[in-house]
Amino acid sequence: MIDLRSDTVTKPSDEMREAAATADVGDDVYRDDPTVNELERRAADLVGKETALYVPSGTMGNQIAIRVHTDRGQELLCDEQAHVYKWELGGIAQLSEVQPRILDFGERSVPTPEQVREGYVEQDLHRPGTGLLCLENTQNSRGGVAVPKEHLDAAAEAAHDLDVPVHLDGARFLNACVALDVDPEAMTERVDSVMFCLSKGLGAPVGSVLAGDEEFVDRARRTRKLLGGAMRQAGVIAGPGLLALENVDRLADDHENAARLADGLNDIEGLSAPEPDTNIVMVDSEDAGITGKELSTACKERDVSFSAFGEYTCRLCTHLDVDEDDVETALDSIADVVESA
Ligand SMILES: *Cc1c(COP(=O)(O)O)cnc(C)c1O
Repeated sequence: MIDLRSDTVTKPSDEMREAAATADVGDDVYRDDPTVNELERRAADLVGKETALYVPSGTMGNQIAIRVHTDRGQELLCDEQAHVYKWELGGIAQLSEVQPRILDFGERSVPTPEQVREGYVEQDLHRPGTGLLCLENTQNSRGGVAVPKEHLDAAAEAAHDLDVPVHLDGARFLNACVALDVDPEAMTERVDSVMFCLSKGLGAPVGSVLAGDEEFVDRARRTRKLLGGAMRQAGVIAGPGLLALENVDRLADDHENAARLADGLNDIEGLSAPEPDTNIVMVDSEDAGITGKELSTACKERDVSFSAFGEYTCRLCTHLDVDEDDVETALDSIADVVESA
């Protein structure tokens, strides 16, 4: 099976399994796990924040950040395509009692400063006030769009001028850094907190990191406990996580394979795929007269797996366990399906 559903499907390498088996461990709730401590230190350095917290998933990292930054009843300003709004089970409402104010951040996947000011709600007798601006880089649902640093900075500055903190859902922000050739520390310079996943293109089996200043991370640590995410000898998963941090540069291979995939899809009559910024390819099959669901189901029978994302849209994702030959094989199968439709 060539699995293009997501970059979360990667299996840990032999080195990662070895790191899991040999990690130095302790009880992380007592802050006694040296492997977790090292991962948190290295992750904080990577993003240029004071400190960081290891969390079981990206979803938990985002939801902790939202809960820590906001007061109950406040508004969270985000894109209508934001992962925190669309794909996290309404955690905004369930866990933080915050209501989202969604805007269409458009193709650039980040609000202009004017949009931030438009979406902002000042607290008064009738209005709850905006508690947080949430940005996302790369933007998943819009096709792995890599948001340039200047645009992120401008949005964050507009929010800060209104005394609104900014969280970056940076599940794949290292893909953006590699694609745009920007230092990770520079990319997150203006945001107050950032979450990124070790378990996607970086290939770790488990885990994400939430980084920010000491005060924020202290509160995040308590919230992680509240949500049941405080772990004990977590070094066994943090060990592979440390190796994942060495996989940043190779994300460029995934981007090249995604570009190859998009080119090949465009060569198939009836399909069109915009040139991807990173490792996510969105393909439109309307002109081929085949729905996303039909296309993905028929390809799955030919051992190529990817997800229908809309009526006539599918999402294909490249990663560590997909090479150039796999891309060619996948394209052949997709072409067969479309031609016989
Ligand atoms: C995957 C993803 C998350 C959530 O990460 P999990 O580890 O799957 O919970 C959050 N935001 C974005 C943009 C993602 O792509």
